[in-house]
Amino acid sequence: MNNAKLAIIGSGPAGLTAAIYAARANLSPVLFEGFMSGGMPGGQLITTGLVENFPGFPEGIDGQQLMANMREQAERCGATLITEDIDTVDFSQKPFTLTSSGGDVWNADAVIIATGATARRLPLDSEKKFWGRGISACAVCDGGLPIFRNKELAVLGGGDSAIEEADHLTHFGSVVHLIHRRDSFRASKIMQKRALEHPKIKVHWNKIVEEFLGDENLSGLRLKDTVTGAISDLPISGCFEAIGHTPNVGFLNGQIALDELGYIKTLSGSTATNVDGVFAAGDVQDAKYRQAVSAAGSGCHAALEAERWLGGLIHA
Ligand SMILES: Cc1cc2nc3c(=O)[nH]c(=O)nc-3n(C[C@H](O)[C@H](O)[C@H](O)COP(=O)(O)OP(=O)(O)OC[C@H]3O[C@@H](n4cnc5c(N)ncnc54)[C@H](O)[C@@H]3O)c2cc1C
Repeated sequence: MNNAKLAIIGSGPAGLTAAIYAARANLSPVLFEGFMSGGMPGGQLITTGLVENFPGFPEGIDGQQLMANMREQAERCGATLITEDIDTVDFSQKPFTLTSSGGDVWNADAVIIATGATARRLPLDSEKKFWGRGISACAVCDGGLPIFRNKELAVLGGGDSAIEEADHLTHFGSVVHLIHRRDSFRASKIMQKRALEHPKIKVHWNKIVEEFLGDENLSGLRLKDTVTGAISDLPISGCFEAIGHTPNVGFLNGQIALDELGYIKTLSGSTATNVDGVFAAGDVQDAKYRQAVSAAGSGCHAALEAERWLGGLIHA
């Protein structure tokens, strides 16, 4: 049996920041950085190019480089990194147990879950082709890039996030086409009003994307009307998919309370979950911001809270 005072699951900005803080607090954290489940080691930023909004890098920094830096920093501070998934957990007794994809069983006094959320994507070959070449899942991250400035852009979706993304893109694009597969929005009334009244947002009801069009880069969408079946092409230079995220919580097998969207529920103003000694950080508990810097911030909070919790436990 392997033992850890603190186990951290996930190696995105949340998990690695938690590891840096916990290692510096002499907790000798063991971090499972993932392998196949819920994305790659290093997390979502591994899949992107230039990150322009992470503080400290005036020229921006390549996503892979940023995550390599965080990984190196966590190791240098003393964290142990294991490139495996956690397949199952047992939080019903203390110490908690975690079973990794390599078949090892770990005891842990405290656990930080930082497994992120996976952006849902359209299952089209042309979508894969233009991913990162005009298609993105994050307007706040990519909307300000030069390739999108003063161009016609599109957002796919009909929830609050889709309207927020469209609204954000109006600062950059000349027109923002909001493509929705139904004839009404799921978004809150106030968000609907914002979209419908915005002079730069044009709503396309009852439309789905049949294909993404272009040569090197995305240059248009082939749309199908879900009522009439009519096909039309819409020239655009950028498309932002806002069709939801799936928090990576399957391995928890119902042992941690989730909110109505499937994200881990944390106590207000804290990273504590409903299980004493289990904390959650980053996108897996954040349906609202989903940014690298906010994930890193909550990783810091989780490590400090785990440290205090372990301190109380040890002196109890
Ligand atoms: C294409 C793209 C571009 C983006 N650009 C920006 C940007 O420019 N600026 C910005 O601030 N944000 C950006 N974001 C958002 C940002 O990447 C996320 O907010 C951030 O990575 C969340 O960090 P996290 O640590 O919570 O989770 P993630 O980065 O998602 O990391 C989750 C980790 O958990 C691991 N994992 C999952 N399941 C398991 C398991 N069962 N066992 C072990 N490990 C597991 C995964 O392997 C991964 O390492 C972008 C996102 C995408 C998809």
